[in-house]
Amino acid sequence: MKKATRTATAGTNAEHARLHNRRVILEAVRLAGRLTRADLTRLTSLTAQTVSNIVTELQEEGILLVHAAEKGGRGQPPVPLSINPEGGYSIGFHVEQHRIIAVLLDLLGQTQAQVRLSVSYPSFEDALPMILDTTRQFQQQLSAGRFFGVGIALPGPFNVEGMTAVGPTGLSGWDDPTIAARLNKELGVPVLIENDATAATMGERLYGVASDLHNFVHLFIGSGLGAGLYLDNRLYSGSWHNAGEIGHMTVIPNGKTCHCGNQGCLERYISIAALLEHLGHPADHDIAEWDTTSKAFQQGVEVWLDEAVPALRQAINILESVLDPQTILISGFLPEPILLRLIERLEPLSRSISSRSDREYPRIQLGTAGPDTVALGAAALMILAEISPHYETLLKSE
Ligand SMILES: [Zn+2]
Repeated sequence: MKKATRTATAGTNAEHARLHNRRVILEAVRLAGRLTRADLTRLTSLTAQTVSNIVTELQEEGILLVHAAEKGGRGQPPVPLSINPEGGYSIGFHVEQHRIIAVLLDLLGQTQAQVRLSVSYPSFEDALPMILDTTRQFQQQLSAGRFFGVGIALPGPFNVEGMTAVGPTGLSGWDDPTIAARLNKELGVPVLIENDATAATMGERLYGVASDLHNFVHLFIGSGLGAGLYLDNRLYSGSWHNAGEIGHMTVIPNGKTCHCGNQGCLERYISIAALLEHLGHPADHDIAEWDTTSKAFQQGVEVWLDEAVPALRQAINILESVLDPQTILISGFLPEPILLRLIERLEPLSRSISSRSDREYPRIQLGTAGPDTVALGAAALMILAEISPHYETLLKSE
């Protein structure tokens, strides 16, 4: 394993180095499943003494399990170590227009509990009691283990004048920068707020089709549209956590008027709100309650795609040209048959730098992490912040 490189670590900061080394060791064990101290010394390039000290510390905290020594060979028998699933937990919330989904994850990333609450365009004040109640309810189920914190994912973009919480795809009352601090105070644990497409991208990386990918874009079609960017094996979230918020990217000059004041924004063509508008329904309808198998609905979808597909092709051409990804995933709350039809209709894609005959993956693929992917990703971000050296930076924006 390549040792992670750090930038701008001025001087010697023993505590910082210790935390970093803990994460390096935990990530190595997580990826391998089981490793011995000798394996860790070899894989991480840390000294045997450092590995030994950190392993002892993690074992005392209940984060690592120590298994029976392996027999055979000469000298001291090697002792395998693994992550203790009960060593820690995190909770992820996906707040969206019609529901709040919450999941409780253990340290191995397995779902221990899940809750779905029906809501209607919840403001932060509406959602706060539900978040507090669900967190307490989950906490009561935990017998032991550290509680790493709460990740909350919701539609972006955040804090952009004229774009945040405007129109049918926005949620109001979430753009107050003190929200994370308030939640942290109420819950007494770290709180991370992330946009839904970025959290979904982490969900796909850990639980879906992207587990082997190190450069991909994830288009998440919700009420609006966002993209998550996973570049050079890490999430890219930009200076203000708005990277990939492509919903208001102009794709059709002089096109449809948008609530943001521009014309021809991508999500005016490709989003659940755009589909509902096309079908003549208010944008606040919940598509989950629809009979998507009816002939009339399917015909309506086909006509919608006539308009949506060219706009999305344009966006795909831009994303491929700028980012040179291995693939682009598409998922979200559109029913799967519609997502599959959309992917089918996108062909032929516009030519771009991604038009290569030696491709390992198709240019466009369906995401496979399922409807909880955003909540799973939000919870996983909290755990990764603890156990992976690459995700610590995500916590520094609050
Ligand atoms: Zn717009």
